Amino acid sequence: MRLLLATMSHETNTFSPVPTKLARFCRDGTTLLTGQAAIDFYTDTGTCMGGYLAVAKSAGADIVVPVTAGAPPSGRVDAEAYETFCRLITEEVAKGGFDGIMLDLHGAMATETFDDGEGELLRRIRAIDKTTPICIAYDMHANVFPDMIENATIIAGYHTYPHIDMKETSTRAGQALLKVIAGEIKPTTAWGAAPMLPHVMAQGTHMFPNRDLQAMCAAWEASGRAVAASLFVGFPHADVPMAGLSAVVVTDNNPADAKAMVDELIEFAWNAREAFTFKVEKLEDSVARAKQLGEQGPGVVLLDHFDNCASGGTMDTTDVLREIIRQDLDDVVFFGIYDPDAVKQAVAAGIGNDAELDIGAKLDMPALQIGSRPLHVKGKVRTVSAGYYRSTGGLSPGLQIYLGTTVVLDTGKVQIVLLSRHVEPTAQEMFRVLGIDPTTKRFVAIKSRVHWRADVGKLAREIVECGGVGVCTSNYGQLTFRNVRRPIYPLDPEMTFTLAT
Ligand SMILES: [Zn+2]
Repeated sequence: MRLLLATMSHETNTFSPVPTKLARFCRDGTTLLTGQAAIDFYTDTGTCMGGYLAVAKSAGADIVVPVTAGAPPSGRVDAEAYETFCRLITEEVAKGGFDGIMLDLHGAMATETFDDGEGELLRRIRAIDKTTPICIAYDMHANVFPDMIENATIIAGYHTYPHIDMKETSTRAGQALLKVIAGEIKPTTAWGAAPMLPHVMAQGTHMFPNRDLQAMCAAWEASGRAVAASLFVGFPHADVPMAGLSAVVVTDNNPADAKAMVDELIEFAWNAREAFTFKVEKLEDSVARAKQLGEQGPGVVLLDHFDNCASGGTMDTTDVLREIIRQDLDDVVFFGIYDPDAVKQAVAAGIGNDAELDIGAKLDMPALQIGSRPLHVKGKVRTVSAGYYRSTGGLSPGLQIYLGTTVVLDTGKVQIVLLSRHVEPTAQEMFRVLGIDPTTKRFVAIKSRVHWRADVGKLAREIVECGGVGVCTSNYGQLTFRNVRRPIYPLDPEMTFTLAT
């Protein structure tokens, strides 16, 4: 058996000013992983590619990996970068001789040219090869367009947010594909979308309603009623026609039942639409509340969620950090501010020496009416790290992580992490490689929304969601949508919706 495996993964925030060039898809900023290097990098990791590799190896397949390209969320993908990924994949498809194609795609990739990056890739593959079965593992944040479904044989989506089941998802997709190749199942797919943009802060699977929706999907898969059942909450910070919630169910030759399950998911989600919105507290009130909670000891987590780099935030807004300093919170670690220039200046100052820096707010945010401003800080350079470590837990155990050159600037009360790459603080290891034990800190302030719960969540005694500034705005008030289909909830709060029969 011969299998083609590839990753092309990016969650595009069309409001984000952060550019998405080819280098962002390179694991160390310089090398796009292909072939044996990609296989070595992902083998035995808790990732989609790790799951596909294990399935393919267990089947004794010859494995061809034309590219594994994944980048942190940011603005529309550079056209040339996108064409590079598509070319690497389609050139290999054109050589022929594959029994199956296993794709690890995000599902919310928009490029400079296409709103539906995944659909366009699949159209190109199908233009060359109409019949080889294709399975796809999509992120739960996929914004599903018709071509993403109609040009695939098996679709499976994550069931957890934070995404701790990436490997399980691709394993489910890959094993189903092997059954298709063996002629053991005849997949039929149904899908549907609800006109709603669930807020990211209300999407976690630790809470209603997404917990319940994902449990429905998992139960149908466990009973064998569905080959794969997926509820995609969608990625709302994307001004593209099909942004929002959708459901996709694959059955073994039972299209009517696939549609019945899709309808049940869509109806449940729509009826719970209010629980998928999010209410914002004033920043000064949040920080004051956190300060009070800190009087009982360590473990107060402050979320600077407006500026989560894993939703396309610049990770350089300073408003929450400024308020933490203004209200004089003590024993804080703040992870972090993206500012490659400040990192260079701190490195030049040297470990143990004082540095005085203007940090953050270097990236304009034209999609917002308001912006952030640089923060003037004085402190001691405590740590300079090359930023490499191998993850042991959290979102992708076993994966080698590269934070980029990273600095800890200590003001006496606040340890500020300065970053030269966009990295969401999800794992306690990220703090430990910088010489900080986050479990001892009274306050752990992070630019994250939900993924932090995978591991940093274990130390949280109290959680305070802080309002602020950033392109992951709450309930979208600061953003102007022009391309998403209307009406859509909650942009059109009074709208009605009934399922098509
Ligand atoms: Zn996601």
